[in-house]
Amino acid sequence: MKIRILGCGPSNGLPSLSRGYGLCDPKEPKNNRTRSSALIQTNDHRHILIDTGPEVRLQLIGAGNPKIDAVLYTHHHYDHMGGADDLRSFTADRQQPLPIYLSAIDKNNFLKSWGYLLNQGQMQLNVIEPFRPFFIGNTEILPVRQYHGTQISMGFRFQNFAYSTDVKTMDLEGFEALKGIDAWVLGVVSSRANFKHVHLSEALQWIDRVQAKRTWLTHMGQRLDYQTLCQELPAHIRPAYDGLEIEVA
Ligand SMILES: [Zn+2]
Ligand SMILES: [Zn+2]
Repeated sequence: MKIRILGCGPSNGLPSLSRGYGLCDPKEPKNNRTRSSALIQTNDHRHILIDTGPEVRLQLIGAGNPKIDAVLYTHHHYDHMGGADDLRSFTADRQQPLPIYLSAIDKNNFLKSWGYLLNQGQMQLNVIEPFRPFFIGNTEILPVRQYHGTQISMGFRFQNFAYSTDVKTMDLEGFEALKGIDAWVLGVVSSRANFKHVHLSEALQWIDRVQAKRTWLTHMGQRLDYQTLCQELPAHIRPAYDGLEIEVA
């Protein structure tokens, strides 16, 4: 399985319109971060897109413009769903509707803004529930419940890999569901406490707890400079960057 980090930026991207690069070095290209999103290439050669932020078109062109077979949503915030209209590009020549997987709440929010996309039956919204696995082709996917401020967001485990962003806390079941993963992409927005996101020192405890062999940080904001993180973090934890590819056996 191959994972491409399409974007690893915070909700307002980096540089942001209000704060620029903040504490990040503007001369380091890996500090240019579009909104967080990932592309999974499964062992049976399907492309699964996680989230469609506002930069999804450019992110997918950068990834070689692959055909998308399914879309998973972590939650309905603009930085994760705001580019949904671009999914039209993947519905035109399909025999079957494009399958989209999201929670019941996110389905309602999707329909409010993008209900028109379903008019011609080219997409199919599938409601998923925490800890109820489902399959896309031969790949089993386990949704993991996450608490994100006052909302619930969804993490996803695919075999030995998990993608967990926009998460402040998880319950015991969530941590148990992630045990034994080889590779983890974890959203950490700041080194400071945050109401909606786990911060850096909490994240290090989580990585210990889950015993993930390798972890990449995503959703990183203006306090998390790429090179500083590379120097300060242990070798099995790395900051992601836009375009990073991770292989998982
Ligand atoms: Zn976000
Ligand atoms: Zn969010």
